[in-house]
Amino acid sequence: MPIPEMRTSRWIEVRDSPIHGKGVFAARRIPKGTRVIEYLGDRITHKQADDRYVDHDPNDNHTFLFIVDRHVVIDAGVGGNGARFINHSCDGNCESIIQERRVFIESTRLIEKGEELGYDYEIGREKDDPDDVDEIFACRCGSPKCRGTMLYPAEKPVKKAPKKKAPKKKAKKPAKKPAKKPVSRAKAGRRR
Ligand SMILES: [Zn+2]
Repeated sequence: MPIPEMRTSRWIEVRDSPIHGKGVFAARRIPKGTRVIEYLGDRITHKQADDRYVDHDPNDNHTFLFIVDRHVVIDAGVGGNGARFINHSCDGNCESIIQERRVFIESTRLIEKGEELGYDYEIGREKDDPDDVDEIFACRCGSPKCRGTMLYPAEKPVKKAPKKKAPKKKAKKPAKKPAKKPVSRAKAGRRR
């Protein structure tokens, strides 16, 4: 049985956000662990996404691409729903869950009516990132835990570090669930 599509949701409403552009807010009290909405849009390959946004301004991070895995990107700029307006937050009240190569936004704690929803985009760093990538993806989520960037990990990797992973700074963040791929809404060209 396929999981039913959640194009709309009684839990949320879209309106202007103090963080960025439009945001998604709780229309009612949302219990912890609620599947709030599905992240919908055109399902395309990384190549198709690159081609689609080849002329996109590299200094503008504002696309609606969500990397599902190595093969699939969801472009919520085409046929997307309200989920595309959920802003990034370094310490959000939601998380993105990938299930059967689909993306669902779920609450990680009780959310009071009127609160803005947010989840960590965890946009991966790449070798060819421009020097000002942290400015392009600057975060102003306002959380006390804000790491200042939507990229993850927060620190730029040290160049020429021989085969070593970035220093472990796990304290900030709970361990990732093994099933969850690094997910993000990333601008075109950032995807592998
Ligand atoms: Zn932040």
